Amino acid sequence: MKKILVLEDEVSIRSFVVVSLTRAGYDVIEAGTGAEAFEQLKIHPDIKVAILDIGLPDTDGFEVCRKIRTADPHMGIIMLTARTSEMDKITGLMTGADDYVTKPLSSLGEFSARVDALFRRIDVARPVDSGVFVQGPFRLNTMNREFEKDGNRIKLTEVEYAIMKMFMENSGKPILREDILNTVWGRDYFGEVKIVDVNIRRLRMKIEDDPTNPIYIITERGIGYKWGL
Ligand code: CA
Repeated sequence: MKKILVLEDEVSIRSFVVVSLTRAGYDVIEAGTGAEAFEQLKIHPDIKVAILDIGLPDTDGFEVCRKIRTADPHMGIIMLTARTSEMDKITGLMTGADDYVTKPLSSLGEFSARVDALFRRIDVARPVDSGVFVQGPFRLNTMNREFEKDGNRIKLTEVEYAIMKMFMENSGKPILREDILNTVWGRDYFGEVKIVDVNIRRLRMKIEDDPTNPIYIITERGIGYKWGL
């Protein structure tokens, strides 16, 4: 069964999310505080996706996200945010979330569709293909999903891995942001294309020598991005 963690301290919102996901066929584990969430993650190591509220009684969702991400680069993470300002969204993503959903949640259907999309991505992203890409200082092993620069391991999230693989398969070719969105997030993704830019920015911080002057992930004005190797 597809197991998912829902961390939200407001009972009414949590019930909404739990009902929505249970109907969609998920096995939902609930938590109301950061401490409870970590306890549940220990008890259920097979949780694959975590939905994290930001305002929590004992900590905040960004901190929880950061800790989960450090322990498990493969966990799918969706931030549940009541704050609408762009900066908060970006900060949430920079700490390692894959997606965000703004409260109040519009519909049960849309919410579970977002979760489905993330789940599918995590499932298909598991090693079905094989091979090793070696380009410049980088080495991407698609069997064990390890990514290295100059022989040093760089931990990638599922989304970053999928973007990286797409770049290495299309070396030197400009790629439309929309194509990255469709390939990595899926055609049924409801979000906005700028999520691509946010993830690219994070990826640059991990792999570029100087993220402000990127030489590997090159911006193609008006188009999207190009893997410069
Ligand atoms: Ca809250």
